Amino acid sequence: MAACDEGYRCEICGEPVTNLLESSLYVRYVLGEVPLHALFSAPERHLRCDLELARYIVHEKFTPPAQVGPLSNSPLPPEEQRQREQRVTAAWVRLREVVHARIPLTEYPLASEQKP
Ligand SMILES: [Zn+2]
Repeated sequence: MAACDEGYRCEICGEPVTNLLESSLYVRYVLGEVPLHALFSAPERHLRCDLELARYIVHEKFTPPAQVGPLSNSPLPPEEQRQREQRVTAAWVRLREVVHARIPLTEYPLASEQKP
């Protein structure tokens, strides 16, 4: 994406990532885990190839990756797992919204964690 017509290639499957909405990098950016300046230099991945992230998206419109490979991280404790799912799912939902709202890239990230 960014300025390159060919798009960036997924570092896992090697296919181009043609759509912001299939980019795990952008979900991580919305999450605040990737800073803006790293967006254009960090390795790109399809969301469907990035199981470490995709497995936390719990949404009726999200089709989880069919392939379940070995995961490098051990499972989180149930409470942390639940919080991570809420946060990553919220980021994914927000990315869908902001792409259609055409707001500036700098306004994509979620507000920081809100304490109950
Ligand atoms: Zn891929």
